[in-house]
Amino acid sequence: MRLKQLEMALQRLRGFEKPRPSLEQYQTPAPLAARLLYHAFMKGDIKGKIVCDLGCGTGVLAIGASILGAASVKGVEIDPEAVEIARRNTALLGADVEYIIADVRDATLPDRLGACDTVVMNPPFGAQKVHADRPFIDCALAMAPVTYGIFNAGSVQFIEAYTNGRADISEKIAGALPIKRTFSFHTKDIQEIEVEILRLITPH
Ligand code: SAH
Repeated sequence: MRLKQLEMALQRLRGFEKPRPSLEQYQTPAPLAARLLYHAFMKGDIKGKIVCDLGCGTGVLAIGASILGAASVKGVEIDPEAVEIARRNTALLGADVEYIIADVRDATLPDRLGACDTVVMNPPFGAQKVHADRPFIDCALAMAPVTYGIFNAGSVQFIEAYTNGRADISEKIAGALPIKRTFSFHTKDIQEIEVEILRLITPH
């Protein structure tokens, strides 16, 4: 499958029906999701691998990993309503994802889920709840040797300081996130946020 085909497939997926601001529910737009996944695929981090999507929302990253040939995919999400949509999206594309309704702040989660090869995630940026992204990083590093995450542009320093030797940033890919007017505190119809896709690896 080529990048463009993946993007077109992901474009068909439904987003959040009633996005909840406190959970920072934004569906990753298909072009950005496809970019992350395809990059990971080309690095050998998806095909035949056990992949976990933390905060999977309506499932775009998890489903994309499945259709790119992951051996198995788990999607972890706190909001059962989002998981309902994710399940329908999974069926729509004939993908195979196991959904787990759980909170990434639960310290027992990595043990319960078991190890995986690759984590993919678009965590909350912490715009509504400060440091909301930290438990995602902790959970990812506890679960997998390789993590792809979407972060605010300029997060490298923070991630390096926060992970403090627990992980190295092996790659950084710049991207943009067009955010449609979703919540009342948004003032423009569409706002572009500069983001970066980071590949984190845990030293062995
Ligand atoms: N990964 C999806 C959704 C990104 S939005 C996509 O790329 O489209 C961030 C998601 O994290 C939301 O679905 C939100 O409900 C979920 N989330 C926020 N806090 C969480 C927590 N503590 N545990 C699990 N999921 C959480």
